Amino acid sequence: MTTTTLLQPGQIEAAAGSIPELRLPPADVFLARARRLEQLAEGHAMGDYLRFVARLARAQQESLDASLAAQLPTPETLAQCREYAMPPLAPAGLARPEGWHKTARDLARKVRSSLPQAGQAALQLALENPDAWLDEQAGRLFEGGTQHLDAAAAPVIGAALQVHWTHLARQLDPTQVARPEHPNLCPVCGSHPVSSVVRIGGPESGLRYLHCALCSSEWHVVRAKCSNCDNTRDIAYYHLEGDDKVVQAESCPECKTYLKVVYQDRNPMADPVADDLATLTLDLLMDEAGYARSGINWYLIQGHP
Ligand SMILES: [Zn+2]
Ligand SMILES: [Zn+2]
Repeated sequence: MTTTTLLQPGQIEAAAGSIPELRLPPADVFLARARRLEQLAEGHAMGDYLRFVARLARAQQESLDASLAAQLPTPETLAQCREYAMPPLAPAGLARPEGWHKTARDLARKVRSSLPQAGQAALQLALENPDAWLDEQAGRLFEGGTQHLDAAAAPVIGAALQVHWTHLARQLDPTQVARPEHPNLCPVCGSHPVSSVVRIGGPESGLRYLHCALCSSEWHVVRAKCSNCDNTRDIAYYHLEGDDKVVQAESCPECKTYLKVVYQDRNPMADPVADDLATLTLDLLMDEAGYARSGINWYLIQGHP
């Protein structure tokens, strides 16, 4: 007599090695984000702010839909990056995408009217600076510093860079990209994640993906594992008292950091960027509990003169 082991669909895929390790950004990534932000803004204490970012995300989608120039690295460079498990679209190794200054000014024009008077004037002034100034500001964002970053323009400059890097990532094929050594960095562009998302539907169903802050790509990292230090012991989850648990903070006692997990099985519209912005109270609590945030959200970056 033989025993037969019944495999669940997920296991069959795992056995066949067909789990998508990398999800390159979908065509409507910014539109989905905008819709979720509009939904979250209803009755939210930070509703005006969420609606402002929703407007910015809609403007980003319009820019992404326009025919942008896309200059990928040469096939030789792509092959080399793959061989050495280097992110092919790392900003340090790439020329600034053609047309990104115009994208930044377009976005500013579209969102300006939804800002308070002082914010409008500050944004107007910032975007009148020469292209070289925008390039310099972009460099500071890439370096992760907030010193000498223009507070009014930073979210718009970050949003413009996201549009171009998302567009570039969409030109790639997942087979051109190698898995990086460090699970905390995007395999496509080497940036940090915003948060992570447990997806539903298709072969990704039930899998957790980290969402890139710059190029909107997502890479698979098993659940209950600290993406910052690889630890799997005593990972704990925190959420706000009495909420729907769509967003939880996955915390690591080893490196004392946390990354949010957004559960689409609890709300199919949940979005790794929008839901992160709508749960800043959770960040405050995690900070009080002594955990540092390992995710970066470019909409939130505040510049300092
Ligand atoms: Zn990326
Ligand atoms: Zn850790």
